[in-house]
Amino acid sequence: MLKIKGLTKTYPNGVKALDGVDLDVGLGMFGLLGPNGAGKSSLMRTLATLQDADRGEVTFGDIDVLKTPDPVRRQLGYLPQDFGVYPRISAIKLLDHIAVLKGLSNAKERKEVVHELLRQTNLWDVRKKAPATYSGGMRQRFGIAQALLGDPKLIIVDEPTAGLDPEERNRFHNLLSEIGENVVVILSTHIVEDVADLCRDMAIMNQGRIAMKGKPSELVEIV
Ligand code: ADP
Ligand code: ADP
Repeated sequence: MLKIKGLTKTYPNGVKALDGVDLDVGLGMFGLLGPNGAGKSSLMRTLATLQDADRGEVTFGDIDVLKTPDPVRRQLGYLPQDFGVYPRISAIKLLDHIAVLKGLSNAKERKEVVHELLRQTNLWDVRKKAPATYSGGMRQRFGIAQALLGDPKLIIVDEPTAGLDPEERNRFHNLLSEIGENVVVILSTHIVEDVADLCRDMAIMNQGRIAMKGKPSELVEIV
């Protein structure tokens, strides 16, 4: 579904964050594991069409993601690593606004979708509070709710469990595991358990390169 070939990116400060990344990602949940500074966020931002690459190709189905980003943007759900700046309005209003931005123009449908997502992410009871007042785990669940708006076919989740306590991480895992099989989900993380618990396939990234591709079950052999 998602094919990445020779993706290379050097920042203006000379840091080579992506150094010829090749990766094929099929339907289901894919884990991208790697230490801080490996280039995971750079890759996620490029796939989310928020950042250019110097070289390389990305295709999603038959869409050329780097050359024609608009069609993939309409199918994209993105939870960035630094998601966390919120206006002081309620979660339910904020989700409704984001839904409008994502093109859900029918108010009745929007209401249904937003209510459903608030229940699914266990935020119904706090829907009238501003996400700015939420705990870390609640914020991440809100983050996934906004990412799931509009039925995305490509979901990119960058370091969602960093800083969460075990219970919050568990809740987040349960939520991710409910995402259907009919979408591509890429989960970037430095936490081995995230990948071991959730992902069918995985890769390890280091110093801007894919160091290993395989199944999470193979992880025990290397760590
Ligand atoms: P990570 O935990 O993924 O390494 P970073 O701290 O590298 O996250 O990145 C956080 C934000 O800071 C990102 O938006 C990234 O683009 C920016 N950033 C990271 N490193 C630099 C840098 N050396 N110069 C400028 N911006 C940076
Ligand atoms: P990861 O998500 O695996 O921690 P990043 O993609 O955030 O990795 O960072 C890879 C390298 O690129 C790091 O050395 C980081 O400091 C650097 N970097 C990230 N974003 C920027 C940026 N906007 N400008 C300059 N350097 C950056």
